[in-house]
Amino acid sequence: MSDRHTLEADILIIGGGLSGSLLAAQLLRQPIGRRLVIVEPRADLGRGEAYSAVELGHTLNANAARMSVDPDNPDDLSQWLEQHIAAGGWPESAEQGLPAAELFPPRSLFGRYARQRLAQAQAAAALHGSELLHLCTEAVDVQLEARGVRVWMADGSRCLADRVILATGMFTAARTSQREGNGLNTLAVDPWDVATMGGLDPDGRVLIIGSGLTMIDALVSLNQAGHRGPVEVFSRHGLLPHVRRQPPAWEDFLAADTDLRSPLQLFRALRAQCRLAESRGIDWQAPLDTVRAHIGRLWSQATDVQRRQFVRHVRPFWESHHHRAPPLGAALLERWLVQDRLRIRAATLLAVARDADGLPKVQVRSRGEAQSEWRSGCAVINSMGIEYDWRRVDRPLPRQLLARELVRPGPLALGIAADPNGAVIDAHGQVSQRLFTLGPPLRGQWWESTAVTDVAAQAKALARYLLASSRAAGP
Ligand SMILES: Cc1cc2nc3c(=O)[nH]c(=O)nc-3n(C[C@H](O)[C@H](O)[C@H](O)COP(=O)(O)OP(=O)(O)OC[C@H]3O[C@@H](n4cnc5c(N)ncnc54)[C@H](O)[C@@H]3O)c2cc1C
Repeated sequence: MSDRHTLEADILIIGGGLSGSLLAAQLLRQPIGRRLVIVEPRADLGRGEAYSAVELGHTLNANAARMSVDPDNPDDLSQWLEQHIAAGGWPESAEQGLPAAELFPPRSLFGRYARQRLAQAQAAAALHGSELLHLCTEAVDVQLEARGVRVWMADGSRCLADRVILATGMFTAARTSQREGNGLNTLAVDPWDVATMGGLDPDGRVLIIGSGLTMIDALVSLNQAGHRGPVEVFSRHGLLPHVRRQPPAWEDFLAADTDLRSPLQLFRALRAQCRLAESRGIDWQAPLDTVRAHIGRLWSQATDVQRRQFVRHVRPFWESHHHRAPPLGAALLERWLVQDRLRIRAATLLAVARDADGLPKVQVRSRGEAQSEWRSGCAVINSMGIEYDWRRVDRPLPRQLLARELVRPGPLALGIAADPNGAVIDAHGQVSQRLFTLGPPLRGQWWESTAVTDVAAQAKALARYLLASSRAAGP
């Protein structure tokens, strides 16, 4: 099929985080002999950015009952966790006195669970002649050829595969975004760099840019490192994530309302439901949580104008209300706010620099004010979250895929364009038979395309589609 230096595969998955590993596990469960290759620079598969966390206080943002990686068994994680704890794992969980299903496990532990589920699928697949090979490197280029897709790796190796899946996940703004022409990424501390946070002046002022869940992770690490100084958080809207509670079930009011389309209609209907819930003494989070199942449909039905309206007017509230903080992190935030140790400001970041003493400083303009001011501290932490616009991602693979016109930006330049099966759409509007994607690159297609349950469902659907389409195409 090719020269002897090229590895060959039926399916090559670029990215061995949660999406790539769940897809591999789904494919390995199908009883046909196949060679799968995953390209992933991390030594451990299944973890990616989120589940490589080392801090025990960096937990999932929902309880185990909501975080199964098996779409056919919502109790899968709770059961695994129960066994893990019974075997002496995660002894700290006893302090919470909760059943496994209600615990918010450390993300590192979740990574171990995902890895184990993949290992089980690998062991079962060996019986019907399938294998999974992990290339521990970065894929840097992709080219379509008549007989398949050729992928080049950073270590000089290459692979020819029938089909290639882009499971490249999230590109964190702190590491890869070119958006900050102001040099923020050069000067700021990475929000998950626990070692650097441990070395900061414990009494110094820390400035954090961005007020979402990444900011909560940074607070947890500062606290763990014994930091005592003031913390100033800046974000455009000055909104903080709400704490995730565990509300009772609420009627799925959108299931009956298929006409509802515009963001404004959704917002009004949701507000009415939240008021109704509260008038009955039920948490507003109950109706909000029913919306989740409809977001993909509503987003894909919406026009670009409506999507823009959502992003401009509703997104900040959606983020703070829907992407809620785990209880331990939220309690820490609350404590520091009450102690006046942490202040949040609605402000725009204008510039970053170093002061005469070499300390980092940021120039910010508070909302509604004409004047800007400089604030300095012992560290600036970039907690701006995820860069979804691939044109701004400073990595070889996205650059090459765009330059070769094999992908094009998705709706509103969020991720990349694909059809509902995850088949990538190229710069000329051609739906690929060979290149697919899942997870965060489909942000523009589905809006919510990153949570554990999103990627687990997508991995199952994509595996089925790949199997069905390879049968249709013949040997
Ligand atoms: C810090 C954090 C916390 C989160 N917490 C939660 C949570 O509590 N609950 C929840 O539901 N969701 C959470 N998420 C969201 C979600 O679970 C993750 O984004 C999920 O891990 C997506 O998996 P992924 O494999 O698509 O992406 P990633 O985890 O980002 O993995 C992608 C992988 O691809 C690799 N890769 C990228 N480019 C290349 C290349 N060119 N060649 C080879 N490999 C490449 C990367 O090394 C990486 O390991 C969190 C996300 C983050 C970032």
